[in-house]
Amino acid sequence: MKRAILGFRRDEQGDWVANLDCGHGQHVRHRPPFVNRPWVQREETRNGMLGIELDCPRCDRMEWPDDLVAYRRTGEFDERTLPSGFAKDHATKRGVWARIHVVSKALKYHVGEPIQRSFLVEAPATAVIVPAVPHRVETLGPVRFFVEFWRAQRMP
Ligand SMILES: [Zn+2]
Repeated sequence: MKRAILGFRRDEQGDWVANLDCGHGQHVRHRPPFVNRPWVQREETRNGMLGIELDCPRCDRMEWPDDLVAYRRTGEFDERTLPSGFAKDHATKRGVWARIHVVSKALKYHVGEPIQRSFLVEAPATAVIVPAVPHRVETLGPVRFFVEFWRAQRMP
């Protein structure tokens, strides 16, 4: 799915990496004649790419980024106290990841476009919520769970 470039850094080999708003990094190498990104070599032209969106396959794979920090968690819910909004499609903001922690029994977790997957999350287990991707949960009976929110530590 498309993620905006927030900034750039170099890896250990000196290759340029774009920091995306999802918290993932993506190489933007200039290796002519096969990979041509002459813009990455100069700060001025790199800055011109800020805000441009790249496809992030790691988000499509629901891959948890490195360097996230937890900043908030909900209280514990059960099948009776489940907030009604959780059962309808909703999404976190860009850059905000979350984990559903199922601490007792099980929960159905449905992820919408562009991922389109459903999971049975059975305690003790967690499920990944990808930034800005619609999702909802479905109770199957007794369950206890909470949600923990994380965001990228690295600032642009
Ligand atoms: Zn990503």
